[in-house]
Amino acid sequence: MTASFSGAPISARILQIRKTLPPTVRLIAVTKQVSAEAVRAAYMAGVRDFGESRIQEAIAKQAELADLTDITWHFIGHLQTNKVQQALTHFDWIHSVDSLKLAKRLNHLAAELPHPPHCCLQVKIVPDPPKYGFDIDDLWQALPQLDQCTALKIVGLMTIPPYGRETAELQMIFQQARELASAINQRGFSHIQMQQLSMGMSADYPIAIAAGATLIRLGSTIFGARPNALPQQV
Ligand SMILES: *Cc1c(COP(=O)(O)O)cnc(C)c1O
Repeated sequence: MTASFSGAPISARILQIRKTLPPTVRLIAVTKQVSAEAVRAAYMAGVRDFGESRIQEAIAKQAELADLTDITWHFIGHLQTNKVQQALTHFDWIHSVDSLKLAKRLNHLAAELPHPPHCCLQVKIVPDPPKYGFDIDDLWQALPQLDQCTALKIVGLMTIPPYGRETAELQMIFQQARELASAINQRGFSHIQMQQLSMGMSADYPIAIAAGATLIRLGSTIFGARPNALPQQV
């Protein structure tokens, strides 16, 4: 973590990004490896949605920001089964539901909660072995059982394209994610309604928005490059 960011450039960058966003798009500021102080600067600039990918790091930071009571916290990293309870306690959204096993575990523990967590199913539109997520075929197979996870609000798809792809391929990937969400809706599951597309990061968010993204997850373009950025580590 680093404390080298100052508030002024953060708010200026947020203002700049905001100007380009259609009203249908929700900006999530991704704060992994970002200090609580920098999170606070983004909050002061009006951001209320924050994303973290590591439970331990997030919990420590949330404790420092406990006075900011109207933040919506989004979990966006791979969630290990033994951290599900903590994730449910500390996050309102889980974008990275990447297996049926994880969904069932979340569903089991969420049954005790007053508010069901909002969940997105993480899908790999093109093969990407290092990443977590459902392959498209696996997702279709799992959907009837996911539809029975009624303690979860499964509201959308999340996707991360493989690193370093050209614009044309990114367009195709994001477009296919959108079409997949429509195809799922047309199937008429009783509980699952795909209204959200969580896609678009610093390098590709304008392309994702053009394809219909409703939630964009921006880190480095707001806070600067992370000290040990590993593009494939998600
Ligand atoms: C780190 C991360 C982001 C933000 O990445 P940037 O390229 O810094 O915008 C978005 N989504 C996920 C899942 C991430 O892990």
